[in-house]
Amino acid sequence: MKNTLDLFHRITNDLLQDEKENPVAKHIPSSKLFETLDLSLKGDPLSEDEFEKVLKELVFASPRTATKGFFNQLFGGRNEKAILGELLAVMLNNSMYTYKAAGAQIGVEKVILREVCNLIGWDENSDGTLAPGGSMTNFMSMLMARDKASAKVSSQGLQQKMIVYTSKESHYSIPKNATFCGIGRDNVRYIPTDNQGRVEASHLEKMIEDDIADGGLPVMVNLTAGTTVLGSFDPIRPVSAICKKHKLWLHVDGAYCGSVMFSKKYKHLIDGIELVDSFSFNAHKMIGTPLSCSIIVVKDKKHLYDSFSNDASYLYQTDHDGFNLGKTSLQCGRRNDALKFWTLWKSVGTSGLEKIVDHLFALADTAREYVRNNKDYTLYSYDETIAICFNYKGIPARKICTLLYEHSELLVGYGSFKEDEFIRLITINAQNEHQDLLDFFKIMEQFVADNVALFEEHITV
Ligand SMILES: *Cc1c(COP(=O)(O)O)cnc(C)c1O
Repeated sequence: MKNTLDLFHRITNDLLQDEKENPVAKHIPSSKLFETLDLSLKGDPLSEDEFEKVLKELVFASPRTATKGFFNQLFGGRNEKAILGELLAVMLNNSMYTYKAAGAQIGVEKVILREVCNLIGWDENSDGTLAPGGSMTNFMSMLMARDKASAKVSSQGLQQKMIVYTSKESHYSIPKNATFCGIGRDNVRYIPTDNQGRVEASHLEKMIEDDIADGGLPVMVNLTAGTTVLGSFDPIRPVSAICKKHKLWLHVDGAYCGSVMFSKKYKHLIDGIELVDSFSFNAHKMIGTPLSCSIIVVKDKKHLYDSFSNDASYLYQTDHDGFNLGKTSLQCGRRNDALKFWTLWKSVGTSGLEKIVDHLFALADTAREYVRNNKDYTLYSYDETIAICFNYKGIPARKICTLLYEHSELLVGYGSFKEDEFIRLITINAQNEHQDLLDFFKIMEQFVADNVALFEEHITV
């Protein structure tokens, strides 16, 4: 093992060094991947030297998501304390289904869930779990909503057409999960949104009444805290009142920006969160733990047991259900996603998590101000989001993003809202400084200036 850890050290040290000079790995077109790298698996073993060489090549060729060149998705950066926890979780390799197999690590997960519930303001009756990503925690919420609406479903299957409500700006996992749940994509209704992509609660009640009149059974409303493109926050309070009246489950998908709960300055964006039935957020997005760390909490833990517990005498042989977390999880064997969040939280405190969140918004302010004050740019996003959506000199967003990628300059993506398509810069990496955001614009502007021929036909400003 010692040699292996030494090898790990060598490779990661070299990588960290190289990332400083080359924040973006050289682009390998997918059509050239297998001729560029030797990834083939053969009958005979490699020598240790050959193995190290191939491994290092692979690591160096992979996209660099922790550098100041990566703004492509809703994660990025490298939080050292969280990485330490993740590495230890791999070494320990506990499985989180029972206290017998995970022991003290069960306590780690329980402490996180308890503290999250406390911050929301929920009592001892609340609980939660972790699942591999926000799509899966959303899935769990829909399963609980379905089972609460009809206790027969889990034994007999759907008895009646069920309806789920969300908005077009919500994550694609909502309709996808409706297929998994047997509800069906066609029974997902899209609540109209305002000019910032936020659900307009005023339409909801009529939609529910129409579906009931039509013989449907409305079961759930999904709201988003940080819509995937614009980073907007749906209003919780007015929707909660409608859900209460019609006995619908209310879930808030905070995968992207639910972590505002840790910030005194920004938690107003999820005002009313204590009123919902379930809430999920990804610590691997705003908080910056390694992938994946997705948490779901429910106000009444009964629903976790109702939907996810199954007896298994070969598995649950000791201890109380409250310590055998397999009774409330989607999976059987389950990796320890809690430890990386705990090592970070334990070391920096809740005030440290708050600083991370506030810093991301401050970075976003810097980027937004730059765009707002520069006549070559058009801004499409709003204050109090960490998504800065813009176009530069009228150049189509997809063209500039693709060329920046193919030329190994920057990784950034594009998105669209209503009829506009734009570059979507996300300030999700808390290791970035304000200057790193300004450098982003500098690199992009320089790239356009150096490649005028590629862009000439488009430039309108
Ligand atoms: C990222 C995201 C998800 C999906 O989370 P994964 O961890 O990628 O599965 C769901 N909802 C929203 C709003 C997201 O931004």
